[in-house]
Amino acid sequence: MTRDITAEQEYEDYLNEQNRINTELPNAKFTISIDYDKLDNVISMQRIIYILVTKSCYCYGDNPMDTQIFKITSNNVITNRLVLKELIKKELVLDCNHSYVEGFHMLNNNSNIFEIMTGS
Ligand SMILES: [Zn+2]
Repeated sequence: MTRDITAEQEYEDYLNEQNRINTELPNAKFTISIDYDKLDNVISMQRIIYILVTKSCYCYGDNPMDTQIFKITSNNVITNRLVLKELIKKELVLDCNHSYVEGFHMLNNNSNIFEIMTGS
């Protein structure tokens, strides 16, 4: 069997990137699964947006929880990093199988309402 250097390197890169993200955005009660180089991507030019966190995935079975709404305000454009920082500050907890935050999806064109995208 030959060692797969590429896979090892990729895994190491992944760990380094996770370390970097966790250093810059510490104490999250969820896993940030957004590429480091996308943290500063602008997701809205608005000053106020709302992030909806639905807790109705299969993990909750027949007992879905209420949707949580987080208000994010900014004096400037709103980036992934800013939203993540605010969600950490507001103590968002993702404690089901879907604890990986993959991004934020605008619900309608140019609206200020976003849905959190989570994965397992
Ligand atoms: Zn879930």
